[in-house]
Amino acid sequence: MAAKERSSQTMNEWCMTCDRETEHAVSLEIRTEGSNPKTDHYSREPYRLTRCLGCGERRSQRMNNA
Ligand SMILES: [Zn+2]
Repeated sequence: MAAKERSSQTMNEWCMTCDRETEHAVSLEIRTEGSNPKTDHYSREPYRLTRCLGCGERRSQRMNNA
């Protein structure tokens, strides 16, 4: 049984909550979406997940913003 690979890394990004540049844990996640009103079929969307290591704020951002 192989462990699920999690490409987690940290990098400095601006945090609006901290109002400064902080270290963020960054990882990618593929989400399957079926209830998107813009697409009437199931789609797998890559999301970029970031978590501020300063305040703990989590954000997810769809990567292919068409
Ligand atoms: Zn923060």
